[in-house]
Amino acid sequence: MSVFDHPEFDNHEHVAFYHDEKAGLSAIIAVHNTNLGPALGGCRMWPYVNSSEALNDVLRLSKGMTYKAAMANLALGGGKSVIIGDPRRDKTPEMMAAMGKFVDSLGGKYFTAEDSGIAVSDLQQMAEHSQYIAGVKAQYHYAGETADGNPAPSTAYGVFVGLRAAVEHALRTDLKGVRVAIQGMGHVGYRLAKHLHHAGAELVVTDIYREGVERAVAEFGAIAVDPADIYATDVDVIAPCALGATINDETLPTIRAKVVAGAANNQLAREEMGDLLRHHGILYAPDYVINAGGVIDIYHQRIGNSSNQALREHIERIGETLREIFVRSEQANMATNRIANQIAVERFGSKA
Ligand code: NAD
Repeated sequence: MSVFDHPEFDNHEHVAFYHDEKAGLSAIIAVHNTNLGPALGGCRMWPYVNSSEALNDVLRLSKGMTYKAAMANLALGGGKSVIIGDPRRDKTPEMMAAMGKFVDSLGGKYFTAEDSGIAVSDLQQMAEHSQYIAGVKAQYHYAGETADGNPAPSTAYGVFVGLRAAVEHALRTDLKGVRVAIQGMGHVGYRLAKHLHHAGAELVVTDIYREGVERAVAEFGAIAVDPADIYATDVDVIAPCALGATINDETLPTIRAKVVAGAANNQLAREEMGDLLRHHGILYAPDYVINAGGVIDIYHQRIGNSSNQALREHIERIGETLREIFVRSEQANMATNRIANQIAVERFGSKA
């Protein structure tokens, strides 16, 4: 099948394939749309079984980045890159150097950053060969943390702001006493728990590993539940912060919360899950809108003359964007995920 006929092609502007035998690198860069600015999107390293699987992933992910950047009010387009290989077994400094050269060869049309299988140290190696490597020095940090290049603090703050906007719209005016169940006590989930605890929320948490859960119980007085029980917990808000497709045919009928607002990518197993959530009277904060704090952080690292305050204010606009989505969703009697897609297309559909 040609790239142009691929089901995920969707008008991609530029798809580039790169092979460097000596460095052991086989990689693809996909640039979906640059109407609003150069494309930004992470580099993922994954043991794809073949190049078709890698192409499918990179096309799907780069399109998602166009929507995310547009909804985050960024002068950026969407792109993504994938490296075919097992990050624990195949990664070498030579490979990262070659990837840096590949990114550079697009002349600034595409900026890369971190994604699964790629660490800040890998990006630093790429950055020796290209100026188009982002996300090597995240700025935002919270409550005594040191900024270390990880965008999770910004993502967590954005999710907190967005969750608060959703609660204000659907339930009440402040977070005091609001019960929130968080699935996943990782980089984002733990920090979200901290923000919520400081705002007076009551927490229920879970993870497949005990360490993060025990920390949340000790530090925030959270109640721990089994991973299988988190969606059916009697709470006001569910915050998926673990993995994708957790709003699915099994979990949706069990949800007792009135709001779903969390960091995980691709939370809905299918777009229709958004319609069903609306039908059940559950307000859904579209994932790629509420979890954009990390990409906003990366943008502010690039523009040079930014400040922590400007970054913070930009992240806080996630709340305004969500409010616009919630109001339009009611006016049009349409699911929030579908309204978000509409607004994104309105924004990136023509050149800035
Ligand atoms: P992470 O890997 O640090 O944390 C995920 C946590 O979820 C881990 O502690 C893991 O053990 C737990 N988990 C996995 N499966 C689980 C299950 N079935 N039940 C309960 N817990 C489970 O990842 P993160 O950086 O905190 O990101 C969380 C989510 O947010 C991911 O979906 C990620 O794609 C998304 N996201 C993250 C960022 C970011 O800046 N880190 C940005 C945008 C989106």
